Amino acid sequence: MSDPIHEHDTAAEGLALVANAAAPYLQSLDTRLVHDQARDGVLAGLEGPLPERGEGGPAAVGELLRIGTEAATHVSGPRFFHLVTGGSTPAAMAGDWITSLLDQAAGLWISSPFAARAETVVLGWLKELFGIPASYGGVLTPSATFAHVTGLSAARYWWAEKHNVDVSSQGLAGLPQMPVFSSGLVHVSTRKALQILGCGRDTLRTFARDGSGAIDLPALEEALAQNGPAIIVGNLGEVNTGDSDPLDDLADLAERHGAWLHVDGAFGMFAALSPRTAHLARGAARADSITADGHKWLNVPYESGFSFVRDPAYLSKAFGAWGAAYLPEADGERVNYNMLGPESSRRARALPIWATLRAYGREGYRAMVERHLDAAAHLAKLVEAAPDLELLAPVQMSIVCFRYRPPGVPEEELDALNARLGAALLADGRVYAGTSTYRGMTVFRPAMVNWRITAAEAEQLITVLHELAPRLG
Ligand SMILES: *Cc1c(COP(=O)(O)O)cnc(C)c1O
Repeated sequence: MSDPIHEHDTAAEGLALVANAAAPYLQSLDTRLVHDQARDGVLAGLEGPLPERGEGGPAAVGELLRIGTEAATHVSGPRFFHLVTGGSTPAAMAGDWITSLLDQAAGLWISSPFAARAETVVLGWLKELFGIPASYGGVLTPSATFAHVTGLSAARYWWAEKHNVDVSSQGLAGLPQMPVFSSGLVHVSTRKALQILGCGRDTLRTFARDGSGAIDLPALEEALAQNGPAIIVGNLGEVNTGDSDPLDDLADLAERHGAWLHVDGAFGMFAALSPRTAHLARGAARADSITADGHKWLNVPYESGFSFVRDPAYLSKAFGAWGAAYLPEADGERVNYNMLGPESSRRARALPIWATLRAYGREGYRAMVERHLDAAAHLAKLVEAAPDLELLAPVQMSIVCFRYRPPGVPEEELDALNARLGAALLADGRVYAGTSTYRGMTVFRPAMVNWRITAAEAEQLITVLHELAPRLG
């Protein structure tokens, strides 16, 4: 019986197919539709029974490549403004291919000193980039959600310790509810992390002054005074408006009341890169734990997130699973990153980050962030100048929150109208920006964090909206 997986001679054939397809695909991104609904039929090619006899590597890879290049949502192009979605810089994408080529087991130092050293180096670079003290511990995660799980696990260990319980070994049984406080800007992923950690997503209490979600500091302070050790979640970059909590004030409160400050800077941490926005991130580097994403504004392929924790010992207390608590070595080199985060086996997530930071440096990222700030400011100006568009929040980073509001349409019809316009925009496929809900309104909130985006693409969004809106009837 043949053994087709033993195909050494053709091992690189599939890779060659991908490499050959890469240049034409990447070149097509500037002009092609972000998503072409007419091509969704191609997805049928994925179906079928489990093959009894396979067709061989090159044939299978060629088929997957054909389906994918036709029917994927081309998020890495410059006109995907939906959600907060980054692209992949050329260096990061190539670094990601190297990750697959070398297929390192990056959990234990002994299985890959290369991956461990690269992770230590990029965590150091990222701390420098964000202005986080070098003494912070850190670990790469698959996403910001997992970085929340990581940072809030450290927080949960710290909090249980205050109640004389080792939560890693004993669990939460018998403990009171862990108090977690935030503003109305909190992202759903923070609640999801609490849900995963057994703390309950609805135990998070928000203190907001008004419908904008802005923090009510006196109310928060009162809750801190009443509750003993607590967790404060500070938000740096809200997904509808880019709005942020006053992190320095939250850090002061945390110090005064002995609370743990966790900061969600999934994309907002990148505000620290430009003097134009650095004030928004001020205070983030005083947090006990910090979340940020690589697959958003750093433009590293999915999946890439970072968790930084002020006292590195809490990472090993929360995740040192096999009784082999991690103690930093004198040389800091032999780090077992699977003892510092939720994963055990894991890929060498550091390689694309290393490649892109080495390729473009702090200056390159500052320039990109500022180009996006300019694009957002330009878009906001066009919105304000258009009599049928309404800007709904000041632009603080690279998100612009607005809605379609033609004269004469009553308020109660605007949500349905904007929802229909959003659906029409996605169906059109040239510029991809669906709707969201902000202060009870159906809104557009294009987010510009992809390295390919310039003010011209931002402008195209308005052009296409104005073309589609009259056709809604
Ligand atoms: C995207 C985002 C998250 C979640 O990030 P994932 O990487 O998708 O898990 C959390 N917080 C904010 C503010 C975000 O924008």
